Amino acid sequence: MNRRNEILNEMGLAPIWKLRSIQEQPEQKAESIALMDWAQLKEKVSGCTDCKLRPGCTQTVFGVGDEKADWLLVGEAPGAEEDRLGEPFVGQAGKLLDNMLAAIDLGRGSNVYIANVLKCRPPGNRNPEPDEVAKCSPHLLRQIGLIQPKLILAMGRFAAQTLLGTDATIASLRGRLHRYAGVPLIVTYHPAYLLRNLPDKSKAWADLLFAKKTIAG
Ligand code: SF4
Repeated sequence: MNRRNEILNEMGLAPIWKLRSIQEQPEQKAESIALMDWAQLKEKVSGCTDCKLRPGCTQTVFGVGDEKADWLLVGEAPGAEEDRLGEPFVGQAGKLLDNMLAAIDLGRGSNVYIANVLKCRPPGNRNPEPDEVAKCSPHLLRQIGLIQPKLILAMGRFAAQTLLGTDATIASLRGRLHRYAGVPLIVTYHPAYLLRNLPDKSKAWADLLFAKKTIAG
């Protein structure tokens, strides 16, 4: 045992010192995530146990698409089908999204990347909690850093409110250009909401055209 350890041992501090040296603090964790490449980030997320959601979900849902896309679409968190399949925006809502993207000559994997704020499914599809968002945000931030999109489309109330740090309504956030992590951000409805509120499809279409125009400069 070296002199430092002997002193810590005598003071009864050795186990504490050891524990702190092994466990990364949240800020250190965020800093190390911010330096990861795609492979490291995917591995980190798939083995992540940073918040209480991981034990209750089938698998993490990392995100999918063109890793050099101009468009980054961000939703809330995986639902039951996404949790089962490991991919965001699947099922009927996913089909609607794919159709809307196709109408402006886009598709998932073709200049589009799709991800959620949270990578694990909250139990019973409850709203994500602030501590879960805080723990998972470094993953999305790193995805943004690696993709370097020209525009973020925040889909749904929760994604918009979380990314913009506001509790404003989606109606009041739509139609304006915001910013997240230095990237222009536009708010629109979640496709699952549009399936239940068909008249709002025309508003979502207007949001897509606004986003397309913004990207074109
Ligand atoms: S939700 Fe995010 S922070 Fe929580 S365990 Fe899953 S990947 Fe980790």
